[in-house]
Amino acid sequence: MTRVLVLNCGSSSVRYKLFDGDEVRAKGHIEKIGEAGGEAADHDAALQGLMDRLDLSDLAAVGHRVVHGGERFTSATVITDDVVSAVEELIPLAPLHNPGALTGIRVARKLLPDVPQVAVFDTAFHSTIPPEGVLWAVDRDLSRRWGLRRYGFHGTSHSYVSRETARVLGRPPAGTNVITLHLGNGASAAAVRGGRCEATSMGMTPLSGLVMGTRSGDIDPSLIFHLHREAGLALDLIEDSLTRHGGLAGLAGANDMREVLERRASGDTDAALAFDVYIRRLKEYVGSYLAVLGRVDAITFTAGVGENAPAVRAAALAGLEPLGIAVDPVRNRENALVISPDGARVAVCVIPTEEELEIAHESRRALSLAP
Ligand code: AMP
Repeated sequence: MTRVLVLNCGSSSVRYKLFDGDEVRAKGHIEKIGEAGGEAADHDAALQGLMDRLDLSDLAAVGHRVVHGGERFTSATVITDDVVSAVEELIPLAPLHNPGALTGIRVARKLLPDVPQVAVFDTAFHSTIPPEGVLWAVDRDLSRRWGLRRYGFHGTSHSYVSRETARVLGRPPAGTNVITLHLGNGASAAAVRGGRCEATSMGMTPLSGLVMGTRSGDIDPSLIFHLHREAGLALDLIEDSLTRHGGLAGLAGANDMREVLERRASGDTDAALAFDVYIRRLKEYVGSYLAVLGRVDAITFTAGVGENAPAVRAAALAGLEPLGIAVDPVRNRENALVISPDGARVAVCVIPTEEELEIAHESRRALSLAP
C-alpha cells in the first residue's frame, strides 16, 4: 500500500496527482465543473470519472488539500465525520476555498469508503507562530469571539521548501533558519527557525502581506471605510476590488508577472511602478524577517515568479551586501538551486515547490505509514 491520491478541489476545479512513493503515476486537472462547456456536471461526476480512469489499486490514502484549518487543526488530520463538520464550521473564514475542499472530501469518502482520507491544511505549518506574531492590537473580546488572528497560508509550500533548502545546503534542518518567499499568483513570506515557522505575511485570510497577482496584500484598513463612506461602494464590491482587481492587476492592468516584465521593458510606466511596489513590499518583509530571526542561513524563492523570474530575485535582494546577502548574476539567470556567490554568509536558493508531494508525505505521516 504505497499509493496516495492527492486532491486539490476548488469550487469549480479538481487538481490531482497520484503518487507511488515519491513517483508521480498520474496527474491532471478538471476545470469548469458545473459550467457550460465544462468537463463534468458536478464534483461527483468529475471524481467518478477520475476514479474510473486511474488505477487506484493499492491506495493507502487520499490526501485532501484544505486551505483553512482554523485554530483546531495544527497538523494533517485523518478525516472523520467530526473533522468534516469542523471544516464546514470554518467556511466563514475561507468562503472561497473551504467549500470546494469539503465537496471533494464528501465525494471521495463516498466513492472510496474503504480508503483512509486525510485533510492537509495550508494553515497548519504556521501554528507554531507565537501569540505575538498572530495577534493584532484590537479589542481582545472581539478577537476571541470572532477568531480574529493571523493563520497564514501556503504552509505546505513553506514547510517543504524550508526543509529542502537545508537538504540542498547539506545542513541539519533543525539548525537552519530560512526566510521562504512563495511568489506565485498568490504570494507569501515566512520566517522559519529550525523547521518551525515564526512569522508569515498572510493573515486571517490570504489577502494580506505581499503584493500578489490580483490581491492587494497589506493596506491601511481605513481604505475600506473611506471607500465605503466617501465613494459609496458596497463592502462586497470593495472586497472584490481588493481580492480580484488589486495587486499587479490593479497597478499594471496585468496579473501575470511575465506580462508586467515585458511591458516594463517596453517602457510602460504603470508596469514599472507595479514592479517597484511589488519589490519594495518584498524587501520590507525580508528585512522584517531578518529582524525576527536574528540569524538567517538562507533566503529561498519558490513558486511561479520565485522559480522563474531572475529580475524579481535580483531586485528584491539588491543592496543587501552589507548583511551578507548577494545574488550571483549568472547563477540567478540560470535559475540555479543556489544563486548566491560561493562563501556568502547567507545562501540564496531557488527551490521548486512540491505542494502535492508534501501533502502525500503528510497524509502518510498522519496515518503512521512509512514515508
Ligand atoms: P503559481 O501560482 O506558482 O503557479 O505562479 C503563477 C505565476 O508565476 C504566473 O501568474 C506568473 O506571474 C508567474 N510566472 C510563471 N513563469 C514566469 C516567468 N518565466 N517569469 C516571471 N513570472 C513567471
